[in-house]
Amino acid sequence: MIISPIEFFRTLPKKICPECGETMKEQAESYLMECDRCLSKKTE
Ligand SMILES: [Zn+2]
Repeated sequence: MIISPIEFFRTLPKKICPECGETMKEQAESYLMECDRCLSKKTE
């Protein structure tokens, strides 16, 4: 069975914020580990 790269990325598990456990929306900036909420907390 051949899985196309597109299909492969679609089947990847969703990113979960290690800080609050919130499921994150897919982000282009993959280096971000935390969700927007936790990131904004840290910058304060
Ligand atoms: Zn979070």
